[in-house]
Amino acid sequence: MEDIFDKMHEECGVFAIYSSDGADVASDCYYALYALQHRGQESCGIVVNDDGVMNIYKDTGLVNDVFTKDVMDGLGQGQMAIGHVRYGTTGTKSRLNAQPLLVNHVKGSMALAHNGNLTNATQLREELELNGSIFHTSSDTEVISYVITKERLSVGSIEEAVSNAMKKIKGAYSLVIMSPSKLIAARDTYGFHPLSMGKIGESIVFASESCAFDAIGAEFIRDIEPGEIIVVDENGMRSIKDNCGATKTAMCVFEFIYLARPDSVLDGSSVHIARQRAGSFLALEHPVQADVVIGVPDSGLDAAIGFAKQSGIPYGMGFIKNKYIGRTFIEPGQSARENLVRIKLNPVAATVRGKRVVLIDDSIVRGTTSARIVKLLREAGAREVHMRISSPPFTNPCYFGTDIDSKDKLIACKHSLDEIREILNVDSLGYLSIDSVDKLADNTSLNFCKACFTGDYPMDVSNAAKKLRFENKKSKKTEDV
Ligand code: SF4
Repeated sequence: MEDIFDKMHEECGVFAIYSSDGADVASDCYYALYALQHRGQESCGIVVNDDGVMNIYKDTGLVNDVFTKDVMDGLGQGQMAIGHVRYGTTGTKSRLNAQPLLVNHVKGSMALAHNGNLTNATQLREELELNGSIFHTSSDTEVISYVITKERLSVGSIEEAVSNAMKKIKGAYSLVIMSPSKLIAARDTYGFHPLSMGKIGESIVFASESCAFDAIGAEFIRDIEPGEIIVVDENGMRSIKDNCGATKTAMCVFEFIYLARPDSVLDGSSVHIARQRAGSFLALEHPVQADVVIGVPDSGLDAAIGFAKQSGIPYGMGFIKNKYIGRTFIEPGQSARENLVRIKLNPVAATVRGKRVVLIDDSIVRGTTSARIVKLLREAGAREVHMRISSPPFTNPCYFGTDIDSKDKLIACKHSLDEIREILNVDSLGYLSIDSVDKLADNTSLNFCKACFTGDYPMDVSNAAKKLRFENKKSKKTEDV
């Protein structure tokens, strides 16, 4: 289904809770992961820490399929919990790579969950293997866990070990870590992916996105700063900023354009407002005479509202999305693939028939889905289709945790704007400019990574990391879950 719908994916979402008032930490974790499900649908897991005893359950599947009542009862009660939802870009799809990861080492046990992608995982893995480490998974998370546990041998606390490890691991990582007595959250020095802190009663919570706090009634406190470590234990909460400022910051702008939920606030900026702003900029940059503006659900809808407001062209509901297509959906043969788009997205003929339609989507990867969507609109009677994309063209892969493909799969690397317009069979086509991307967030001090649009990566990416990224992509396609 994922390939057919030609969308890129976020790789993970994390959640953590430390309770001082007897909260049901497993249950809060479950509901928070449910709210983060859009960040990963391959596998999920929860670890509950009950006085130093770690109970773990993880499996492939969606949160509400994996965590049945019996499984939740089996996790028991505790003071702390961490959880994870996964769509892997590094490491294959197997159950083995599900997170959190639970490791036992000479100083105790540690559970760890990770969102992001390391760029030096291959080198670190080789070094660790030469020193006797035996890896059980192909995920970056295990590399991080070994680096931390190795550091832990020579320092007095888990937080010092995490701080030292952060000087060695390179790339994108938002981490939640649990030792027998402490909960730790840490974010890479670039701040590629979000990580927020909140409070519910006497419990401190951390999550990839603030929408997870809303799901459990927690109050947002603040974002974890790039490079910051937060430690929570029986003495309260403290921040360690040894690694802050070690590099420039570079938050993934695609979190705002597509990855995050619109009701989330990332680093002080509303995703919903950023998407509306993208639509408004599109209307200024690529104006068109039309009768109705529609968006491709879900991430094109906010930008369509912004385009409509700015242009004065009425907004309409162009598609109804079937939200009930699950992982068990039976795919028909190749010849019927086009129907899959129709099953998921049905155009509302009353909105588009006889009209000049502005169609807003967040991005075009290979172009296959976009062409099918345009075909559906024309079959429903649209007189003209003017496509507007609320991001610049993808021209480079991502190595920081998002599944943006190799150049040979990206339509904008192979075709000119006019050729893409013809392939999609639209009357006009316009992408958001790079300059406008910089102005999407409310927080004007945010620095963005825009490398998938510009090729200007915020850090050097080794050839080994590039190779690993696409080797794993191939193996994901062939592996059965
Ligand atoms: S390359 Fe693109 S998708 Fe990857 S982190 Fe940078 S902006 Fe985000």
